[in-house]
Amino acid sequence: MLAEIITVGDELLLGQTIDTNSAWMGEKLALAGIAVERITTLSDEPAALVAALDLALESRGLVLITGGLGPTVDDRTKQVLSTYFKAPLVQNDEVLADITHWFSSRGFPMLPSNVDQALLPDTCEVLPNPQGTAQGMWFTVEGTDQVVVSMPGVPYEMKGIMVDEVIPRLVARFSLPTRYHRTVLTQGIGESFLSQHVASWEVGLVNRGVSIAYLPAPGQVRVRLSAVSEIRDEAILRVEQELSDFKLQCGDWIVSDVEGESLAEALVRTFTDERMTFAVAESCTGGAIAASITAIPGSSACFVGGVVSYVNQVKINLLGVSPDTLEAHGAVSESVVKEMAEGALHTTGADFALATSGIAGPGGGSEHIPVGTIWISIAGLNGVEARLLHFGQNRIRNIEKTRLEGQAWLLRKLKEYKSAVD
Ligand code: AMP
Ligand code: MG
Repeated sequence: MLAEIITVGDELLLGQTIDTNSAWMGEKLALAGIAVERITTLSDEPAALVAALDLALESRGLVLITGGLGPTVDDRTKQVLSTYFKAPLVQNDEVLADITHWFSSRGFPMLPSNVDQALLPDTCEVLPNPQGTAQGMWFTVEGTDQVVVSMPGVPYEMKGIMVDEVIPRLVARFSLPTRYHRTVLTQGIGESFLSQHVASWEVGLVNRGVSIAYLPAPGQVRVRLSAVSEIRDEAILRVEQELSDFKLQCGDWIVSDVEGESLAEALVRTFTDERMTFAVAESCTGGAIAASITAIPGSSACFVGGVVSYVNQVKINLLGVSPDTLEAHGAVSESVVKEMAEGALHTTGADFALATSGIAGPGGGSEHIPVGTIWISIAGLNGVEARLLHFGQNRIRNIEKTRLEGQAWLLRKLKEYKSAVD
């Protein structure tokens, strides 16, 4: 079955609110076997919604609308739907009781506009919204089996109604195929190189009933394999078979094959499983590596801490970097970054330490060491090594790419060490 999502609100068109509802709904619908064919974003103007509904219902079985259900004058979706489906607004006593309770339990006074939220089109099925006062509405288009659903724009209210009301109703009403997908996260290879690397395997993929998507982000590409089938086990088997082929060919770049897992999460999981620890010594990344690790619950099992050694004096005093090395080579150099990693290792007693030192930009570069020149080093149970990275001019992207490159390398170093000792 094909679906269309319509999001309503001037704020979405003005760029004041990012339309996160569509992305979330698209993912949930795909998992339920419903293909979203188009996403449309509209102003609060009633005529726009009427025109979009006409168009959507020409070809699609399901239309999901969010937004425009608030109590204020700018929100007019309910009135439009009442007219569109020739369903006059009538007071729903049950809903009115719920709304009255909603206000009294919070100690808020209730306004006439809130009472009006219990006025609902008489032919719709009400989809209760326990987290707010605007109800969801389910319409069946007369003489067809097409469905139009309207939900509030507030993301957590929409999510509650989707999970508790809409998805179960869709599954019960339509016989939907199973869509199964797996994603793996790769690091350190661009999408076109990755695709080139697996070109001959990729050519036959569609005939084998599996589709592939490359989802790039700076420094990383998530690869998704998916299959649709009436028989769930068949979809799973197809995807899992192709995934193991992909992993054989691209194992060097895969940092995680756990669904939705980030690189930092993979790092914490692997170090924790191996009962190993690590520390950081961060110059140009200024704590970004540590922050992304400590954002993960349970990271204290493997991450011991580190030093943000932004200026030379801190590199000397807290990490034991030699003033002579700094003098001879400068802070952005192989020798200094190695001493930083070794210093962090000795100071913290961790098994591994990752250090960064570079020119994030936009200033501070020279002809000899341009912006985007970054050294990273890992000291640990298998010695100390450094690598030179060359990135671009964008400060935030340089910091992020350094973090990713460093964390991916640390993950590889740990795996190398474990396979050497096991
Ligand atoms: P409404 O149902 O139109 O009153 O929407 C209430 C609030 O939900 C708006 O002020 C936005 O902040 C938010 N919102 C509306 N539509 C979306 C959307 N598509 N994605 C994310 N937030 C939204
Ligand atoms: Mg609105």
